[in-house]
Amino acid sequence: MIDRIVQLLKSARYAMALTGAGISTESGIPDYRSKGTGLWEKVNPAEMASISYMLSNPKEFFEFNITQWSKYADAEPNVTHRVIAAMEKAGYLRGIITQNIDNLHYKAGSKNLFEVHGHLRTAHCMNCAKKYEFDELVNQFSKGINPPRCTCGGLIRPDVVLFGDPMSGDFYRALEQVQKCDLLIIAGSSLQVYPVAEIPLYCEKFIIINREPTPFDERAEVVIHDTAGKVFESIAEKLDIYY
Ligand code: NAD
Repeated sequence: MIDRIVQLLKSARYAMALTGAGISTESGIPDYRSKGTGLWEKVNPAEMASISYMLSNPKEFFEFNITQWSKYADAEPNVTHRVIAAMEKAGYLRGIITQNIDNLHYKAGSKNLFEVHGHLRTAHCMNCAKKYEFDELVNQFSKGINPPRCTCGGLIRPDVVLFGDPMSGDFYRALEQVQKCDLLIIAGSSLQVYPVAEIPLYCEKFIIINREPTPFDERAEVVIHDTAGKVFESIAEKLDIYY
């Protein structure tokens, strides 16, 4: 199957990657839906990470989410992020679409990156739109200021797409790129979060690398139910690229 993936990558005109929370579990960040370890088994993220919860219960919202997001800030890219960045550099991938907000593709050096659910680098005031570094939220929280406040008194929120928020500009820019894409390599996503889960349908061919089955497996050119790090290590070896 690795040989087939390499063959598809070498013959593609415009290959892209689509990644989800599963590729960052090997960096110590829990995903939502993995059996046994996924966050969804403990809380309902559709509620806890929603715009309505942030507005109705800001103190509880930041208490829960800042604790989660701090784990993301401390994490480092793993082999999957590094191989994906090296594949782009070597010309095998034209771009990376990610649902992750953890900055790990960015830290690994991916360039044509579409963070369709936003990222944890920046934040803004919901009242006056003043821009902040994400660290401002963490600093205020650690000083006991909860919820985080702008100098104007407004609530500061991170630049991520919460449940109930409109999609980001990156999502629409990613859709434009997908028009050109003839091969999509999907890794670490349950493909259950819409509208991102529709993206494979716009590509000629797609490959799925995920530990557990997804609703799109039957339509994929190649499906590997295994750990992303192991699979990407083998792909890098066959492509003879350094990461
Ligand atoms: P998901 O949790 O719904 O699915 C993750 C999938 O990855 C699961 O099917 C699981 O079997 C698989 N998986 C877990 N570890 C793996 C590994 N090492 N190798 C291969 N497969 C592995 O994730 P999703 O589809 O991305 O959707 C969840 C939403 O949650 C996204 O919108 C994302 O924004 C958000 N989220 C992001 C992060 C992050 O930024 N790291 C973390 C949690 C949730």
